[in-house]
Amino acid sequence: MSENIRSKVALVKCDSYEQDKVDAAVRKAVEILGGLEEIDITKESRLVLKPNLLAKNPPEKACTTHPAVFAAVGKLLQDEGYTNLKYGDSPGNPVIKPEKIADECGLKTVADELGIPFGSFEEGVEIEFPEGRVADKFVICKEVVEADGIINVCKMKTHQLERITGAVKNTFGCVFGINKASSHARFSTAETFAKMIGDLNNLVRPKLHVMDGIVAMEGNGPQNGTPKQMGVILVSTDPVAIDGLFCHLVDLKPELVPTNVAAMEQGVGTYKDIIVITEDGEITPQEAAEKYGDKDFNVQRGKEYKGQLQAVRFLVPFLQKKPVVKESKCIGCGICVDSCPVEGKAIHVDGTAHYDYDKCIKCYCCQEMCPEDAITVKKSLLARIADRKWRV
Ligand code: SF4
Ligand code: SF4
Repeated sequence: MSENIRSKVALVKCDSYEQDKVDAAVRKAVEILGGLEEIDITKESRLVLKPNLLAKNPPEKACTTHPAVFAAVGKLLQDEGYTNLKYGDSPGNPVIKPEKIADECGLKTVADELGIPFGSFEEGVEIEFPEGRVADKFVICKEVVEADGIINVCKMKTHQLERITGAVKNTFGCVFGINKASSHARFSTAETFAKMIGDLNNLVRPKLHVMDGIVAMEGNGPQNGTPKQMGVILVSTDPVAIDGLFCHLVDLKPELVPTNVAAMEQGVGTYKDIIVITEDGEITPQEAAEKYGDKDFNVQRGKEYKGQLQAVRFLVPFLQKKPVVKESKCIGCGICVDSCPVEGKAIHVDGTAHYDYDKCIKCYCCQEMCPEDAITVKKSLLARIADRKWRV
């Protein structure tokens, strides 16, 4: 995809998860985007619906793709004659069976009703990817490897490493089990991790992206943030454009999101030239932000300390955010330890969880996977001052 490409994102208002409303919104969004005929899939295609199933949480926590959105996409595909469907995701905690998480998140019930089986996400296949910018191989879930196409049914959420997680980052669940943790260890900065995600998008290349932005997650995402009514369904064939529009809607500059930047550089899509298609016609992302956005959405908007502070590199360690345990909330379950990708672990449990900051690579997997909202990511005083000074 060249830098000159213009990408379309359909935006349809939807103020609740009432199934009829969600069905109508998803159907309308796909229709105004040009219909399923525009997508490179045949009726016989073996398709995998890929929701966000990060961890077991009820739908109202806004951590995972809402069952109503998943059902709307499944029904639309089936009604249009795409009946060779499976679904699945490889969640963050490799110890728990993926289908069990689908059950806890309410997706299994609707998938069973629709007759869409859970695919093979408990087996991985090593795939060489010599054209990758930073990753030359991946271990991908078998179902994804065998599919003709992925339908990415993602969630609008905040993320501590990448600021947001939407369509681009949701492909990470195509990576099999424990290999996700080793990817975090190997690509430990936000930028290198984003480049790996860019490579993964070029490998997996979902055919369509449907974003559940009816109730998004703000603040301490991607698991323990606060549900936030945004009232939109977004649909696009370009994951970077859909994430770019998400940024506009929450008053975050798209170029501050490493996954946007890397994926655009790597030809996955564009966050720069987006046409927003609504039921009332085409508008710009800025107009969409005015009409449908929320400037108070709680997301990290401070600049990374690259420009002005490059000259004072010795300050950088003092500017880094770090994960912190709230002991009063910690139940000592050890999930954070399981999810830490560092050899020998940078966190241990001794009644409650404790960090070894000398080892910690600041990947925030522990924060992402803690089920008790016991881990937050804190900025130092210097970082907070720098944020205020260079805030965008
Ligand atoms: S910090 Fe969270 S994940 Fe870690 S032991 Fe405590 S409750 Fe469990
Ligand atoms: S302790 Fe947490 S942030 Fe640090 S390396 Fe381990 S998982 Fe990543």
